[in-house]
Amino acid sequence: MKKIAILGSTGSIGTQALDIIREHADQYEAYALTAHNSVAKLIEQAREFHPEVVVIANEDHLPAVRDALNDLPIKVFGGAEALCDVVRMSDIDIVLTAMVGFSGLRPTIAAIEAKKTIALANKETLVVAGELITALAQQYRTPILPVDSEHSAIFQSLGGESLDSITRIILTASGGPFRNFTPEEMEHVTAAQALKHPNWEMGAKITIDSATMMNKGFEMIEAKWLFGVKPSQIDVHIHPESIVHSAVEFCDGGVKAQLGVPDMRLPIQYAFSFPERLPLSGERLDLFKAGSLHFERPDFKRFDCLQIAYDAAERGGNMPCIVNAANEVVNLAFRQGRISFPDIARLIRRTMAEAEFITTPTLETYLETDAAVRRLTESYIH
Ligand code: MG
Repeated sequence: MKKIAILGSTGSIGTQALDIIREHADQYEAYALTAHNSVAKLIEQAREFHPEVVVIANEDHLPAVRDALNDLPIKVFGGAEALCDVVRMSDIDIVLTAMVGFSGLRPTIAAIEAKKTIALANKETLVVAGELITALAQQYRTPILPVDSEHSAIFQSLGGESLDSITRIILTASGGPFRNFTPEEMEHVTAAQALKHPNWEMGAKITIDSATMMNKGFEMIEAKWLFGVKPSQIDVHIHPESIVHSAVEFCDGGVKAQLGVPDMRLPIQYAFSFPERLPLSGERLDLFKAGSLHFERPDFKRFDCLQIAYDAAERGGNMPCIVNAANEVVNLAFRQGRISFPDIARLIRRTMAEAEFITTPTLETYLETDAAVRRLTESYIH
């Protein structure tokens, strides 16, 4: 029985992880569930899965959660610090980091130091602090298993291979809802349009990141750290069918890919079951039905966020952290209707030019950069 802590259990990845646990109740136990604000859903999950511990990160909601669960023997904690405490609990085998954004950084570090297997769904952790995280994972010999579908595809393609033999990674992208929009059309798109992703069901923040292609840029940085490759070795391919989930080219020219229907439950389950595979219910890939698969070069001009990510990775230091913090602010501002779609990339570019650049950041630098950049980018909007 593997005991799993799900950080961000009420989000899209978290609820699908609980589907996996429900389907394999003989193998997995939901040991800890955490949410930021989604009180009702967290209570409902706790009543179904009877975890050992529940954390509500926004402490204002702690009394409500405690009250609702006081007839059950579940420990209930509140506050961001509690997330770090909970992941260290000795019974936990796997920590699934499925919360959104920069808030994932400190709990992920705590879990690595406690030598818990990390099922990494919070890509911002590696974007912001990839160097620190990979160094810590090596130091503590903690495995980091990708949950992002593209990185899971790369990881699955690397079975039996050595990282040294990788020459190139083909990182596929659906292209999002605005793949064929002109720059003029993109000036006027709304958050509601951006939130209609063609292939994948995801949370609001990542769906907007997919529409700008910042998500793919962040995935490029994530792949750089997970697989030890250079950004120049990572080629983004627009693949509107989302069937080839990514591929690896080796030094002899051979290419291995992982294919399937778009379903996040497979990469989540694979991170839980690795190195085994377990049965999984659901639709199967029908290549006859798919007919043909298409691949296009991305347009770095219309999707400047993709170029921004390459530029940030190239610059290094705290620049990816600056970009991530600016992106969190503008992503939310766009969803709130406070800025236009092209403003997202424009305001991130302005932040990159004006924020304080630090070549060799520490954890404290990241925390300070994140807070300072949020204020800076927010000041452009008001
Ligand atoms: Mg992905």
